[in-house]
Amino acid sequence: MAGLKTPVHELRGVGPSTTQKLARIGVRTVLDLLSYFPIRHEDLRTVTPIDRLNAGTVAVIRGKLQLIANRRGFRRRRMSITEGLLSDRTGTVKLVWFNQPYLADQFESGDEVYVIGKLSASAYGTQIQAPLIERADDTSIHVGRIVPIYRLTAGLGQRQLRTIIHSALPYAAGLTEWIPDTIARDEKLLPLGAALREIHAPSSLHKLDQARERLKFGELLPYLLATAITGGTRRSLRAASIPFDKDAMASFVSSLPFRLTQDQRIAAWDILKDLGMPHPMHRLIEGDVGSGKTAVAAIAAYSVASAGMQTALLAPTDILARQHYQTFTRLFPDQFPVALLTGTQREWNLSPSSPTKRAMRASIQDGTIKVLIGTHAILDDAVDMPSLTLAIVDEQHRFGVAQRHTMQQKGKEPTVPHLLSMTATPIPRTLALTLFGDLSVSQLRTMPAGRTPVQTTLLDTSRESEAHDAIRASIARGEQAFVVCPLIEESDEGGIAAATSEFERLRTGSLSAYRVALLHGAVPAKEKKRVLDAFVSGTVDILVTTPVVEVGVDIPNATVMVIEGAERFGLAQLHQLRGRVGRSARQSRCFLISDTANPASLRRLQTITSLHDGFMLAEEDLKHRGPGDLYGIRQTGLPSFNMASLSDLELMKRVRKVAARLLAEDPDLSSAPRLVKKLDALNRTIHKE
Ligand code: ADP
Ligand code: MG
Repeated sequence: MAGLKTPVHELRGVGPSTTQKLARIGVRTVLDLLSYFPIRHEDLRTVTPIDRLNAGTVAVIRGKLQLIANRRGFRRRRMSITEGLLSDRTGTVKLVWFNQPYLADQFESGDEVYVIGKLSASAYGTQIQAPLIERADDTSIHVGRIVPIYRLTAGLGQRQLRTIIHSALPYAAGLTEWIPDTIARDEKLLPLGAALREIHAPSSLHKLDQARERLKFGELLPYLLATAITGGTRRSLRAASIPFDKDAMASFVSSLPFRLTQDQRIAAWDILKDLGMPHPMHRLIEGDVGSGKTAVAAIAAYSVASAGMQTALLAPTDILARQHYQTFTRLFPDQFPVALLTGTQREWNLSPSSPTKRAMRASIQDGTIKVLIGTHAILDDAVDMPSLTLAIVDEQHRFGVAQRHTMQQKGKEPTVPHLLSMTATPIPRTLALTLFGDLSVSQLRTMPAGRTPVQTTLLDTSRESEAHDAIRASIARGEQAFVVCPLIEESDEGGIAAATSEFERLRTGSLSAYRVALLHGAVPAKEKKRVLDAFVSGTVDILVTTPVVEVGVDIPNATVMVIEGAERFGLAQLHQLRGRVGRSARQSRCFLISDTANPASLRRLQTITSLHDGFMLAEEDLKHRGPGDLYGIRQTGLPSFNMASLSDLELMKRVRKVAARLLAEDPDLSSAPRLVKKLDALNRTIHKE
């Protein structure tokens, strides 16, 4: 048999057009097909006897076709109608299909079939309209068994994809197991090939569970092993220890334009203690949007600058970098120069004019600049920062391990910089500790005084006008509004299409009287800045945008946020988006627009209307989130596993223990060469980010 690298077009029934569609979901080879896991399964094994069918309920029936034939439509002559009669021991039911005349050729009376559909009563009598039908024998793959459901792409049907994947299953025998035997045995794991067959074609619910376990285990093991290795390495590394100057610090803190919250105080204190250590700090500050993480970062940077050392602050976008630059220049005394460096911007507070590239690099290199704030541009090899002692990564989930690693490489040998990460995503502490290894976590749970919680309302689209009324009212008060659109499909990473059409709809429709602007990931940087400046200065009333774009801007005058397709977002993400309003003492409002009928989604959305604590929401999200939650995981900054999800905490702990034991027994992993290959592959993907 040909190998796993076989291109999909060599499979039977996969033509050029299907090959293209598969490529759209990243599937090019047989191995890709096997690795394209179902997002869920449906148990279609329970057969309902015909005399027990309930109108309106989807059921699986098994029986014998008594008849199947085509006829012309009665009123609309061009429509073809296929009729069938299906019997089992308990009765007979009529089947009807429209415009599928080929069915009458594929099936004939006497065939034993599975049918899935729902009984409906119409003027023509009781019948099942447009049921799925499949021959009932050992080879049935769509009905009469536990059936995998895949994420699709335009033009590729569920049954078609399922059939293609099914035809690739025999190749699973060619997979080599890479989890070491001892682990597989101790942990009672299904072999890889079997797990893949069972995930795509489960023979029982129990086997399906085992398959999931094996696949999740396989995703987590290299990751947690890598974390354990880095953790071990870090403990052996050296960092410059920053002495803590109590008086200087007290005077800096009292110079701030506000009183620190209790949590800010604690976090700052923990950081200053870490900075005093001869080993690199690795600390994560978690805090809701607006909880004041930047001030804590500034305190740390101030302490470092006082010791004559440098801090670099890495932000995911130009806009956030600029915002931090403005905050730092406001908070820092002139004696500590601060600079901004992004792909498009160069600025410092040493002098009013914009520096040349060379002048800036020189001042960074000779240590004049104490805090360098910027985007990826600061990771550039040409940016040399010999006295870099503290690396701060904002919105750490937007960066990969590679970037954090590059930041740490910039310090002067043999020391490495301390690392402080910040995130608005409240990853539960247990989860953070399990996944990130020996990381310290500081949480900012108390909000600065004077904030009023955002009043949140869930509306279906028929009541969307209420949200628009609120926008009008806020604009009438001189305030502003955001409209956020979801990503519609995988291929539209930034939700660009959705935002663009929403922008057109609002601009020409119900909000045409106002100044509406559009901002999404594909807008060029210059234009982005122009739009945001216009929004900040108030010459734009309504900003239509996407979730991935930097709504990180601090615009206290924005008091309404409308989130379209709210069911498509994770709770944590909704909460984070909502935090863009409510940044002043005025009452802000958030409208979640959704037509979802899914009870679980509704419950989630209702939760957020009443809950305002990001940490509680995160716990809630974690409890209810199942595998395959596409939208949530990406937001958390955790690696996006294919199969494993954040709710697999128990499994993570188990795998973490296995990884630790393996490293203790065999630090070089010489007994597990295939696992080492997986680790290398993981490192390669991480460094590609
Ligand atoms: P985030 O945690 O989202 O990064 P920021 O650090 O940007 O939050 O702070 C949000 C706003 O709150 C800023 O305008 C900042 O000046 C202000 N702020 C920070 N700490 C306090 C505080 N203790 N009291 C009042 N305002 C504060
Ligand atoms: Mg921030």
